[in-house]
Amino acid sequence: MPAPIPAYTLTRKRMKNLRMVVVSGTGEVRVSAPLRAPQREIDAWVRSKAEWIAAKQAEAVARPVALAPGPEADALRRELRPVLAALVDEWVPRMGVPEPTWRMRIMRSRWGSCNHTTRVITFSVELGRQDYHLVEYVVVHELAHLLEPNHGPGFSAVMDAHLPGWREHRAELNGRSVD
Ligand SMILES: [Zn+2]
Repeated sequence: MPAPIPAYTLTRKRMKNLRMVVVSGTGEVRVSAPLRAPQREIDAWVRSKAEWIAAKQAEAVARPVALAPGPEADALRRELRPVLAALVDEWVPRMGVPEPTWRMRIMRSRWGSCNHTTRVITFSVELGRQDYHLVEYVVVHELAHLLEPNHGPGFSAVMDAHLPGWREHRAELNGRSVD
């Protein structure tokens, strides 16, 4: 008996080769096929990729799904607020930066951002899931933007002076930027 064909959704396109993606988060398999590719050929191709699909799906669903507003986000906010408050209180005088206004938000692609002009710093609620040293790095990074709006040599100099290990912390947070 042949191995079962993994479930997939098919889109036909004006294209030359078969293509497949495994959607991160859900593990859904999406196949694109040339307009005239026979169904049995597509099925055979998908079956031949079954092992690869299974591995990709395991990886796709292991990744944490983006946080949505709700009880979990609220709990993270409650945990994170005092941590951020203490870090901002500690680092503002240490770095000699003006007092910012800060807030927490659910952010899709960033850990934090700083509006240099309005002095408003926004922290991602998902920092509540991160280790303390990484939260501290994001706080120092955003405060540094009160002195240096861009990521130029001046910014690196401020970071080097205050948090020498910041490059490693930045690498640890990869996948999402610290703006
Ligand atoms: Zn930045």
